[in-house]
Amino acid sequence: MDVDGRADVAIVGAGFTGLSAALHLAMGGADVAVLEAGEPGWGASGRNGGQVIPGLKEDPREIIARFGAGPGEQMIKASGAAADLVFDLIRGHHMDVDYQQSGWIQAAHAQNMLPALRLRHGDWAAREANVAWLERDEMTQAMGDDRYQGGWIDKRGGGVQPLSYARGLAKAAQKQGARIHGSSPVQSLTRDGTGWRLETASGILTADKVILATNGYTDGLWPGLAQSVVPVYSVQVATTPLGENIRGKILGGGEVLSDTHRVLWYFRQDGHGRLIMGGGGSAYESGAVKIYESLRDRVRQLLPEAGEVSFEFAWNGKVAMTTDHYPHLHEPAPGLWAALGYNGRGVAMATMMGRVMADRVLDRGDPEFDFATSPIRPLHVHGLRGIAVTATRAYYRLRDALEG
Ligand SMILES: Cc1cc2nc3c(=O)[nH]c(=O)nc-3n(C[C@H](O)[C@H](O)[C@H](O)COP(=O)(O)OP(=O)(O)OC[C@H]3O[C@@H](n4cnc5c(N)ncnc54)[C@H](O)[C@@H]3O)c2cc1C
Repeated sequence: MDVDGRADVAIVGAGFTGLSAALHLAMGGADVAVLEAGEPGWGASGRNGGQVIPGLKEDPREIIARFGAGPGEQMIKASGAAADLVFDLIRGHHMDVDYQQSGWIQAAHAQNMLPALRLRHGDWAAREANVAWLERDEMTQAMGDDRYQGGWIDKRGGGVQPLSYARGLAKAAQKQGARIHGSSPVQSLTRDGTGWRLETASGILTADKVILATNGYTDGLWPGLAQSVVPVYSVQVATTPLGENIRGKILGGGEVLSDTHRVLWYFRQDGHGRLIMGGGGSAYESGAVKIYESLRDRVRQLLPEAGEVSFEFAWNGKVAMTTDHYPHLHEPAPGLWAALGYNGRGVAMATMMGRVMADRVLDRGDPEFDFATSPIRPLHVHGLRGIAVTATRAYYRLRDALEG
């Protein structure tokens, strides 16, 4: 942004949250400007594993127990519909994105994980979601080997090339009239009469309403917001394209998969036959870089017949974790909203939260797709987050090793 400007709604951050909000707001007739420090998709949205996963970490029955039937059911509906929203946007706006809505498999790495997966599958089946239980032989068929004990598939899920999807959202929002300014870090956010004033190095934007969509890259713009989440560097690798004989064997139906290890294994094939794999995280970028090698071991274990494994790409980015494992939606002042903390499940959920915030801004709350608002709660031990992340990871690795 190189001149002063005005908008009905200013959005800080051009990832899935901010771009989905911009698109839905612009479609609703609002004059929107997005300010992004880098370029659209520069943050986690352009760097993730591309697994489009419906639902939240906790199961529908746990959501009801925590939030009560009314708000709980709304959150279940919103999170359950989040993956469909992604694919509908891609199709509806003719985005140039490599995607497959072929299902997300959650696989049990040990027998003792099966009961929890059965409950989860049962919760969604009871809500008539498009899900199916996978017996061990069906899982073996999907994987090409018998490493997993069974699991379930949520056919609403799938995979996307994430940076293309972020760019697709940005283009669709622009077509609807939204202005998107890259290389425009917002340095301060202050009250300006009944509206807001956002200052960048080269211009000032005034707006009636503001959405903060900065997730793991949240800085000090709003007091306490950065301290309310734990940013963790998460890691991805992409192999060189697999040989034709191996491509059809592992997830040949185009599904994406995560398993039940506490230090999660998750992978999919992209449209070029590369295996895209993630897993593990670190409080520090230097720690994240060390995880690339452990992922090489995992790929070797997964595809012994592939021989020496070469990575075409390896990268990392920051996810925002919350201690209750839920995304957080805040309205800390009149005309100001923020959503963050997708705990590694933000492809679908960030897209949905952008829509939820757009509905709130336009004052046309959709009872089908709403989400409980909470106050910003800075973590008292935020200064110790590096130690906490490292210790938790070590503990999880030990539990995984003990369970085999
Ligand atoms: C390696 C990795 C793998 C992942 N894998 C998956 C997966 O397979 N499936 C899944 O569902 N989720 C996954 N995730 C998580 C998912 O990518 C995120 O939850 C989601 O992208 C969050 O989107 P967002 O728009 O909220 O945040 P981001 O995409 O991080 O966007 C925030 C933006 O805010 C900008 N910003 C920050 N401060 C300012 C400022 N002051 N002024 C202007 N701009 C600012 C940043 O530059 C950034 O672009 C993964 C994440 C990573 C990093």
